[in-house]
Amino acid sequence: MTGTPVSAAGRLVEINRCQICGSERASTRYEDPPYKVVRCDDCSMVWVSPRFDDEALREVYGEDYWQSDSPKTKGYSDYAKDADLYLKTFRRRHRLVRRYLPAGAARILDVGCAAGYFLRVMAEKGHDVRGVEVSDAIAARAVEHLGSDRVHIGTLDSVPDDKVGYGKGSFDLVTMWDVIEHVPDPKQLLLEAKEMLRPEGHLILETQNVDSRFATLLGLKWHHFKHQEHIFHFNPDTVRRVLDQAGFEVVKLTSSFGGKYVSFDFIAERAARLNRAASLALKPLTLLRGANVYLNFHDEMVVVARARA
Ligand SMILES: [Zn+2]
Repeated sequence: MTGTPVSAAGRLVEINRCQICGSERASTRYEDPPYKVVRCDDCSMVWVSPRFDDEALREVYGEDYWQSDSPKTKGYSDYAKDADLYLKTFRRRHRLVRRYLPAGAARILDVGCAAGYFLRVMAEKGHDVRGVEVSDAIAARAVEHLGSDRVHIGTLDSVPDDKVGYGKGSFDLVTMWDVIEHVPDPKQLLLEAKEMLRPEGHLILETQNVDSRFATLLGLKWHHFKHQEHIFHFNPDTVRRVLDQAGFEVVKLTSSFGGKYVSFDFIAERAARLNRAASLALKPLTLLRGANVYLNFHDEMVVVARARA
């Protein structure tokens, strides 16, 4: 399903220890050569081994990730073209996010802000927003809309200490939408996020739930098994555990608001991944091209956590 590009040969690393609990006892859940999806026998954390080494991981997010020829296995078919869908999705998520903001203008940091869609929605609501994005290919879009002073291109730990508006301990809210499953050290990223928050500030993250019914039903065909980029798969227990380790207390964990507005074309692409019959069944519906619909398979978790003082 997911071939390894020749250029990545020799750049795969075996991961034999659970990064959440340290256990070396893990069982193979799926084989998808050269990758295996393994599950920790002790804490149920799921990860991909071997995976790209850290340098190869960073190279995944070039132009061809955001405008991918094979979105089934990597990236998005056309992330920028779907701007309206992302803005609509984040306007819906704002209904959850606003419950955790102080009165008035809040200070919000979005880690992995991509084209800045979430931040654009929050700026519309009057909040003071900043973003961090490691992929310069897509960060350029965020800069276009928000300005270069509101977007740091790089990792969170590379934000210069003197960058205006990025002071440690100054944010009311840090968000990470579809980020934590991509990074080589989720706990470290959460620790860095906590440093950015004021005492008792909130973190909201979204990630896929590998133990959701939808994921279990689809097995290896689940669309979140993209081994080059999704190197971790959390469930409610493991996401709570890593948040606790990083100094957060979970106050809400829900699959509501985990859905997305998608285009008919996207549905057709997903159907093609499942099987040919499903794909053919959708053929007569091509009139729906251009239509969009809110889809929630309840296979994502939206987690709200409060920074412990
Ligand atoms: Zn473990």
